[in-house]
Amino acid sequence: MPSRSPAKKPQLNFYNKAMKTDSAVLDESPNTPRLASVKKRAVVIGSGFGGIAGAIRLQVRGYQTTLVEMRDKPGGRAYVYEQDGFKFDAGPTIITAPFLIDELFELAGRKTSDYLKIVPCSPYYRILFHDGRKFDYTGNEAEIIEQINLFEPSDVPGYKLFVERSHAIFDRAFTDLADMPFDTVGDMLKIAPDLVRLQSHKCVYALVSKYIKNDYLRQVFSFHPLLIGGNPFQSSSIYAMIHYLERKWGVHFAMGGTGAVVDALIALFKSLGGEMMLNTRVEEITIAMGHVNGVRLPGGDVLPADVVVSNGDTANTYRKLINPKWRKKWTDRRLEKMRYSMSLFVLYFGTDRTYPEIAHHSIILTKRYKALLNDIFNKKVLAEDFSLYLHAPTRTDPSLAPDGCECFYVLSPVPNLLGNVDWDAVKEKYADAILESLEQYCPDLRKHVVTRRIMCPTDFEKDLDAYVGSAFQFEPILTQSAWFRPHNRSEDIEGLYFVGAGTHPGAGLPGVLSSAKVLDRVVPAPQK
Ligand SMILES: Cc1cc2nc3c(=O)[nH]c(=O)nc-3n(C[C@H](O)[C@H](O)[C@H](O)COP(=O)(O)OP(=O)(O)OC[C@H]3O[C@@H](n4cnc5c(N)ncnc54)[C@H](O)[C@@H]3O)c2cc1C
Repeated sequence: MPSRSPAKKPQLNFYNKAMKTDSAVLDESPNTPRLASVKKRAVVIGSGFGGIAGAIRLQVRGYQTTLVEMRDKPGGRAYVYEQDGFKFDAGPTIITAPFLIDELFELAGRKTSDYLKIVPCSPYYRILFHDGRKFDYTGNEAEIIEQINLFEPSDVPGYKLFVERSHAIFDRAFTDLADMPFDTVGDMLKIAPDLVRLQSHKCVYALVSKYIKNDYLRQVFSFHPLLIGGNPFQSSSIYAMIHYLERKWGVHFAMGGTGAVVDALIALFKSLGGEMMLNTRVEEITIAMGHVNGVRLPGGDVLPADVVVSNGDTANTYRKLINPKWRKKWTDRRLEKMRYSMSLFVLYFGTDRTYPEIAHHSIILTKRYKALLNDIFNKKVLAEDFSLYLHAPTRTDPSLAPDGCECFYVLSPVPNLLGNVDWDAVKEKYADAILESLEQYCPDLRKHVVTRRIMCPTDFEKDLDAYVGSAFQFEPILTQSAWFRPHNRSEDIEGLYFVGAGTHPGAGLPGVLSSAKVLDRVVPAPQK
């Protein structure tokens, strides 16, 4: 298992102090003889999963690639907090479509299993309702039907039809289109008949309700958009494909936590000759004659590049790193008009005992489903009740906590910073209220918490530079999907590309890893 190596500033062969940021020095062809005579260089801004995967792909294709990350460790939302002997994955925990990770190792002629152990989880999720009922959600049809029978046997035929629909959407939206660029209106028009046929204008909840009548079951089969920042009552029904995606490839966990996947991919990238700079915030993408030619680092140094890929927050990449004179499409005004996903309140905590009755992944739903989502996404108020996702990774890998202890995080979807919540004032009380509510599942929980830390919307803004503290960037609604999202190949600037949650296809590990695959289609081969 590769270990995380300490931050080491790479030697930058092509650093050119004279190359400051504005037009005088940059008033030259993007393919200057100076750069053309050496190996083509790519800079990737940000080391989230999309950034790391993109950097590996560019390095494999022959670009000399530098990954520049402003934090002290790679991973982005998949950062790792280590505290009092507990290891907390900060963000993603549910690994679906693990083949997208395998592909990165295969590109380099390696095998994932030489670096990582990824194991299946069962149940995928345990869904706990406010009145004590529960639903164990797995990938096995017979088991799911057994669970449906406990709620509403007459919904079984409807469920089977729902799976067929989810499969049909998956075939088109994921298999055909997740790693295809949406560069032109024509690309969008080509899929318009499918969007109509698949009734993409409907929301996920409406589609599920067409097939399933029971209220509990409607929640079970419609909550998935929340995993990628969407409201089931607003997200296009194309996201109903997640049900089929999970069934097809399973729900997995990486031993050592998701941070182990980050470590393994960084080790792979470096072994291919890629360079990484940590603690380095890109302050500007430098542009000449409408074409990128580098990135400006703190202190004014410019790292030259033929290709720049941003994995940073897409809205803030345009707003903060690119001079407005180059931005015809993604102006500040237009970015302000986009709809941003909700944020998250995440409480990481360790206990001095274990709770074997708690599943690895639990979804705990309050009585209010639609109304609570409306509070979060539309009214943008902090409600007194909450629906939660509880992560108990020590169920699968006890090594993440000291002996006899348990490692948890609990996540509550909350309004982004366009709401008016004073997080400094409320966050400790909100955390206490969540722990108190969890005592119905973990008796005396508060007495056993020995360490805790909070990540709230202001931390998304501060630590990740997330515009309005959004946890998943643009909300996944139809009018912000595919061609309507900021494109993987910038519409405004030549040589600039995007990977990660803020571009096509969107948030979640399958989405951001697929966005890196799009790079292989839109970034030209590095001609010597
Ligand atoms: C709490 C939480 C739980 C989640 N759970 C799951 C899950 O279980 N399964 C799943 O599939 N998805 C999950 N998601 C979604 C998933 O984690 C994200 O969609 C995905 O990890 C985002 O990856 P990304 O490539 O967009 O980059 P990000 O992770 O957003 O990383 C971007 C990086 O860019 C860096 N950066 C930004 N600006 C600059 C700059 N100017 N200079 C240098 N560096 C910069 C940032 O520091 C950051 O490291 C979860 C998200 C959250 C927040």
